[in-house]
Amino acid sequence: MRLKTGTALLSVFVSAGLLVAPAAQAAETAAPTETTATTVDGRTVDPRPSTAKLAFELHKLAVLSHGKIRVDRIGRSNEGRPVWAARVGHGKTRIQYVTQQHGDEPLGTPAALEFLRKVGVGHSAWQQKLLAKVTVDIIVRANPDGHERDWRYNYDPTATPEYGEKGKGYDINRYHDPAVAPEDNPATEAGLIQRRNASFKPDIMVDYHMQGRYRDADGKEITASTMWPTHPGVKPSDVDFAKQIAVVVQRSIDGNGGYVSQYPGGDYQGIARNGYGLLGNGSVLIELSLIPEREQQQIQDALASMLAIARTAADGSVRKVDPAAAEAIPPRGPALPGTVEEEHEAA
Ligand SMILES: [Zn+2]
Repeated sequence: MRLKTGTALLSVFVSAGLLVAPAAQAAETAAPTETTATTVDGRTVDPRPSTAKLAFELHKLAVLSHGKIRVDRIGRSNEGRPVWAARVGHGKTRIQYVTQQHGDEPLGTPAALEFLRKVGVGHSAWQQKLLAKVTVDIIVRANPDGHERDWRYNYDPTATPEYGEKGKGYDINRYHDPAVAPEDNPATEAGLIQRRNASFKPDIMVDYHMQGRYRDADGKEITASTMWPTHPGVKPSDVDFAKQIAVVVQRSIDGNGGYVSQYPGGDYQGIARNGYGLLGNGSVLIELSLIPEREQQQIQDALASMLAIARTAADGSVRKVDPAAAEAIPPRGPALPGTVEEEHEAA
């Protein structure tokens, strides 16, 4: 995700609570819907929890869940920060979510915390029913070093990556080629995801990212984009399942006041969407748009998609969706004025 410096700076000021009047103005003119919420389920959620706060929140949720949420350190980043996974449920259908492979694309991470709270804390009938049907495993912030630096890559400044940036590190989301074993993976954190995926063997794998700001052909702002595997080697039945999941994503986010488009992604096998599709997962990418005045709502929309995927997997309805409906998800149009097209595929 790359934006003009001006936009990035504005978003910094807005999140810092500065420039209050212009922010309010921008919200009035650019908010994509009338229902933009400023909270997530009535709570203001920290969109970018620190490394320490994330660990604290995960372990707090484990305690509050009375053991229903299990938190594991699946390994360490290049700089030694823990990479966490949280697992909830004991059902047969297995779902894996991954957030923040790109350090500067944060909002999937707070959505994951809210998902764990929503399904794992409490004892209501719907929770028990859900957790009997599905097991959800979430790698929460796959790239803590990139988060620390607010950049896309991991931290490996002496590397000369084929995908990534010299002096910074690897683009983790180019190192999921199933032909590369985790122990041979030059991108440490991608290897951790590969290992967790191989041991968990999910039916469904959804990878949460962020993109810039885009509109459709009629000028309506897109709040999120989604795509299924496009590598030609992915089995057609696995592509169809991913399309069914993408439709569930679209319906859940659109039903929340957002607007989902297709994501114009490539077919490289190192992209998680393709790599885990080749391994037989129902593999889907979600890109939340970076809309500073809609940040809490974006987290709420991501949460809605996580809940909808889990619920429709639990009751089997995801398998009844017409895969062809995915083709009707509108294409992503041009970048909004004041933002720039990405130089390369952002996912
Ligand atoms: Zn990304």
